Amino acid sequence: MGADSGTGIDTTGDAMDKGNGSGTERAVRRDEAVRAAVEQGLLAADSPVVGLLDVTGIRESAAELREAFDAVVAPGTPVLHAFAVKATPLVPVLRLLNEEGIGAEVASPGELALARAAGVPPALTVLDSPAKTPAELREALALGIAVNADNPQELDRIDALMRSAPSRSPLGVRVNPQVGGGSIEATSTATATSKFGVALRDEGAREWVVRAYAERPWLTRLHAHTGSQGIPLSLLARGVAEIHALAEEINRRVGRQQIDTIDIGGGLPVDFGSDMTRPTYAQYARLLQETVPGLFGGRYGLITEFGRSLLARHGTVVARVEYTKSAGGRPVAVTHAGVQVATRTVYVPEAWPLRIAAYDAKGRPKTGPEVIQDIAGPACFAGDLLASGRALPLLEQGDHAVALDTGAYYFAHHYAYNSLARPGIYGFAPNGEGGVAFATVREPQSVEEIVAESGGAHTDALTTLRPPGRG
Ligand SMILES: *Cc1c(COP(=O)(O)O)cnc(C)c1O
Repeated sequence: MGADSGTGIDTTGDAMDKGNGSGTERAVRRDEAVRAAVEQGLLAADSPVVGLLDVTGIRESAAELREAFDAVVAPGTPVLHAFAVKATPLVPVLRLLNEEGIGAEVASPGELALARAAGVPPALTVLDSPAKTPAELREALALGIAVNADNPQELDRIDALMRSAPSRSPLGVRVNPQVGGGSIEATSTATATSKFGVALRDEGAREWVVRAYAERPWLTRLHAHTGSQGIPLSLLARGVAEIHALAEEINRRVGRQQIDTIDIGGGLPVDFGSDMTRPTYAQYARLLQETVPGLFGGRYGLITEFGRSLLARHGTVVARVEYTKSAGGRPVAVTHAGVQVATRTVYVPEAWPLRIAAYDAKGRPKTGPEVIQDIAGPACFAGDLLASGRALPLLEQGDHAVALDTGAYYFAHHYAYNSLARPGIYGFAPNGEGGVAFATVREPQSVEEIVAESGGAHTDALTTLRPPGRG
């Protein structure tokens, strides 16, 4: 983690990352935004931590995604890129992506409501949850939203709904190709025992799937999501190859092109160790073209469901250093970013390391000799560390610790430990005059809201519950 590059972080190798979404340009934008956030008072005594979103970068990633698959599909192939809302469940983000031609993959009533609030049309929405209630299914089918059934019991429910009111919804089944897991157990969805989809290699499962399609002419899609962070590209491609082969088998056995669309899920990993975009969407699309050429021959429409790879790079947590101290000879910077904004990193640091950059009190990249130090969060347990034993210019009181690549699955996923407030989130873009403009994406949570959300309207709820006879 060298800090001598002027960008506050190590940019080794960035020279290779030219073109759209160059890591270097992104790092420069980030530096300008951190400084502007401090100058413009987004970070202040009563708002010591904020999340920032790089609008330029999000648009660039959306364009890279579109271009990568446009380059490999046959002309005229319908392609829907449905952003996995789970990754960054923020209405303005969904609206921005929608303006870039990206739809929404939703997995709960809340996520569907966010997509609808953002104006994402039903035709660009896909519902994938493993635990859809009858009410959710009814709503999705009434709206014409695509649904991938997770299991035979869910398909029974869809059967009943289709009998009572035919739907325009494109319908499919999610299968688990059981091609194996990656380096992170919790994000590996294609292990033998993963909870998602119909486990394809289990005894009788493949036959069941073929029959399910043969008996239901309205099942026209097939879905798999092989996993997220930690899954190598080759394994993602094998998952896609498995479902393409299954679609071919089903179509052959029913004697027509019943499955017309294959949903390959998301899962492109992000390199949290550098600013380089690798792997790229283009690399993944080319790998798929090599390993599953039939997918792009024009006979299948294509759906993707990327989350992390679209947004992670474009989010930054900026936290003021409240105090610095030393413990057992090691310097510790106590900041306002910890488990509430970086839950996975704090609880499973080996699997989810984040780069931390040091900025001074004015929001400028900090220089100076690197010192091994801990960057701690505000929560009251010892493990609340953003980074442990990290070499950085020594953080001082009033400086800023910045957690990079936190645009997906981080500050948008608040964890209410210690009743720490949800920080404000602000989008940024050039203001046209050489400066940076900010727009509020999510207001910071107030302490009044924390009280209200913590049963504040029910103060006496428990004291008034008395066993009979106790008066
Ligand atoms: C989580 C998830 C995604 C997105 O995964 P990323 O790793 O964020 O790209 C896509 N589809 C399904 C079904 C998911 O559960």
